Amino acid sequence: MRIESLRTRLRALGALPLHEDRILRDWVRNAGHDHGRRRPMDFLPKPVREALPQIDQELDGLARILSTHPAEDGSARLLVGLADGQTVESVLLPRDGVCVSSQVGCAVGCRFCMTGQGGLIRQVTSGEIVAQVVLARRQRPVKKVVFMGMGEPAHNLDNVMEAIELLGVEGNIAHKNLVFSTVGDPRVFERLPAGRVKPALALSLHTTRPALREKLLPRAPRLTPRELVEEGERYARLTGYPIQYQWTLLEGVNDGQDELDALIELLRGKYAVLNMIPYNANEGLPFQRPGWDKAHAIAAWLFERGILTKLRDSAGQDVDGGCGQLRARALDGAQP
Ligand code: SF4
Repeated sequence: MRIESLRTRLRALGALPLHEDRILRDWVRNAGHDHGRRRPMDFLPKPVREALPQIDQELDGLARILSTHPAEDGSARLLVGLADGQTVESVLLPRDGVCVSSQVGCAVGCRFCMTGQGGLIRQVTSGEIVAQVVLARRQRPVKKVVFMGMGEPAHNLDNVMEAIELLGVEGNIAHKNLVFSTVGDPRVFERLPAGRVKPALALSLHTTRPALREKLLPRAPRLTPRELVEEGERYARLTGYPIQYQWTLLEGVNDGQDELDALIELLRGKYAVLNMIPYNANEGLPFQRPGWDKAHAIAAWLFERGILTKLRDSAGQDVDGGCGQLRARALDGAQP
């Protein structure tokens, strides 16, 4: 279900825009029910009121939690089942965040990512994206939503933009706390600035070398790292939020001095934060995680030279839950 199609359906029943907003707001804030009973909505036109139980049921059926995998850092990975039997992963993050999936599978095919290995299966609809947030809100408060789960949000722009608008307008989430994460598709730099809700932007950089980036991200658009940073800088200046550059640290691949020197040259003076994330090893993929001491030394070296660098661990690592692993294990028939 797309949010726009639900609005069209409500309108056909006689709902005014403020009625649509109220129904959607109650859903996304988990506020329509009191101890399991729907709050009275006497102000709605009768046909809309009569359709509400059916609509509630459909919204509830969009996504359900199949398994939960809590980790010591306070995060928890969720394997989420969709109505057609497909599955995606969401992650409850420490400090009131949730990471959601925007596609079942992914067409970008990043060499180090489990999700990328199986290609794209289907788009996740705007309703299913918001339903992941609603599920998370049933577990704990959510004040931040990052689009960093399975999928490339830029390849599902209409659905992702609809979800972002609803979360930012009715969902009580600050616009800078909606984080659109992409490998860098030119369409993103056209659509996001024009949106009613402008999310923060995370750009997957991973290397300063164009040829290596093409190898690591084989089906990402052919923007060089420099072009990507130029586009990012324009968006950062427009919105007033820094770009979050993502750098998955791969042992012996992008952790050498040449990369660090080039990073200084690329990012110095930019309105940016560099998130360094030591790789979360995936069985069957030929990459290694560098030691924590080495990763720490790299981040400190960059920081001392003026690059605002944050060393992060990917949430849920101690439950063997790199993006796509839960789903891959469930498809193998193993206990996810
Ligand atoms: Fe797709 Fe992201 Fe995995 Fe790359 S890292 S294949 S963009 S899900």
